[in-house]
Amino acid sequence: MKEIFDNHCHLEEIFRDGRLESELKAARQTGVTGWFSSALSRQEMEWHLQQNIAGMKWCAGIHPYYEKSSENDWDFLVELAETGKIAAIGEIGLDKRNHKLEWQKNILLQQLDLAREYDLPVIFHVVKSYYELYKMLKDNFPKVHGWLHGFNSSLDVFQAFNSFDLGYSLNARLPDQKVVKAIIQRGLWQIETDAPYARPDDYTGEYNVLVNLIWVKDKIEKIMSKKLWK
Ligand SMILES: [Zn+2]
Repeated sequence: MKEIFDNHCHLEEIFRDGRLESELKAARQTGVTGWFSSALSRQEMEWHLQQNIAGMKWCAGIHPYYEKSSENDWDFLVELAETGKIAAIGEIGLDKRNHKLEWQKNILLQQLDLAREYDLPVIFHVVKSYYELYKMLKDNFPKVHGWLHGFNSSLDVFQAFNSFDLGYSLNARLPDQKVVKAIIQRGLWQIETDAPYARPDDYTGEYNVLVNLIWVKDKIEKIMSKKLWK
C-alpha cells in the first residue's frame, strides 16, 4: 500500500503567508508523510535550501507562467543541479496563458538539457499544450523521466504520454473518471495538493491547504471503489 505523499505543493508560498507550521501539523495528523515542494524563484530556492522539514524533498525550475520565475535565476538553478541540492528540475513546461511561446520553448529546452546532464527527473506543468510538449519530448528527449503534475487531460493525451517514463500526478482538478482509472491501472502515479493552488471545488477556503490531500485520496478511492493507501 502507498504512503500518503503530497507529490506537488509550494511550501515557501504557504510559509510566506504564515501558515506553514499549522498546515504541516494538520496534514501529518491525517497521515500525510511527505511533500514534494516546488521552488520557482531565487527567493524560493534559497528558502528551500535552508529548510530541514521531515519528509520534504524539493525541486527548482523556471516556470513558464509564474510571475516570479525569471531566466535570471538560470545560473543559480545550474548550481543547484550541479551540487546535488535538488531532487528534480521543475516545475517547468508550457502554458498557453503566457503568449511568449518562443521564450517558453527555449527556457524549457535549456532545462530539459540540464536535467539530462545531471540525470534528474523533470516535473512538468502543462496548460493546453500537451501535444506541443509531446512533440518536443519525442523528438529530443525520449528518455525523459519524472512527473506530469496536475494531469487533467484526455484519454488520448494520457495514451500518447505513456510512451515516456513519466508518472501522472493527480490533484483536486481530476480528469474524467475513465482517465483516472486508466492512470491507476498503468501504475506510475501519485496525488498532490498543489497548495496553495488547485482548491477542491467544494472547499470554501480562500486558498488550497495541505490537509486537502485527503480530499484527493478519498475521491480517487471512491472512483476506484477500493482502498489504495494504508
Ligand atoms: Zn505547482
